[in-house]
Amino acid sequence: MQKALFLSVVFLSLLTLGALTWRHRSSRRRWPAAGLRLDTLYWLVAPTLATWLSRAVIGSLLLLGGLIAFRDVSHRWDGFGPAAALPLWASVMLTLVCADFANYWVHRLMHRGALWPIHAIHHSSQELDWHSALRIHPFDRLAMQIASAAFVVSLGFPLSALVVAAPIAGLIGILVHLDTSIDFGWLRYVIATPLFHRWHHADEPQALGKNFAAIFPVWDILFGTFYMPRHKRPTRFGCSDAVPQTFLAQMTYPLKRWVTRDPE
Ligand SMILES: [Zn+2]
Ligand SMILES: [Zn+2]
Repeated sequence: MQKALFLSVVFLSLLTLGALTWRHRSSRRRWPAAGLRLDTLYWLVAPTLATWLSRAVIGSLLLLGGLIAFRDVSHRWDGFGPAAALPLWASVMLTLVCADFANYWVHRLMHRGALWPIHAIHHSSQELDWHSALRIHPFDRLAMQIASAAFVVSLGFPLSALVVAAPIAGLIGILVHLDTSIDFGWLRYVIATPLFHRWHHADEPQALGKNFAAIFPVWDILFGTFYMPRHKRPTRFGCSDAVPQTFLAQMTYPLKRWVTRDPE
């Protein structure tokens, strides 16, 4: 409920801001953007769907592990080792860094083989803007959330750090989809900017398989996937796959691709 309220406030604020600053877009488009109606549905439905799904998956895993295993791991929510001894602010900062590292690799995997049809949904926006941020298949969200949470908790960070870090990461995740081509100078190497992430969504050959990090571009710099040419801006967004443009069809799209073994 709190999450839905938080998202509604963010959505309405950005919608108002977007309408007021429409004339200053980096791309020439008409209001409302194509896909805004579909994206609105994602904002309303997808986070709740993903929460139910993660509860179901985590609940099943705990049941599988049995009550005794649950008791054994429950004390670990407070963290352990050096990570648990840190002050909360340091713990939150490092949680963001570590979760982003895990997300970087899961994101790279999502761009490959059988996982791609799930992630193709997020890449189906052709008019990319802040509202495209939540156009994510629940399986995609689930994979990212479970991988990053499991990684961070296994390093000993307390759950409280994750609870504080999650909305910060979520907000950055929305902002990097903004339709702006501002170059933030040296900051482009420190934190993910809209231009950094817009290159990730660019449907241009030289940008394919680039800029996977959600918050810290350092992972792309380290692992050779950083792409931000100085004097160029992405002009075309989306992907070459024929992803349907309705909510229900997008929900079943990965299943259809797997059943038909469509290699597209
Ligand atoms: Zn991607
Ligand atoms: Zn994106």
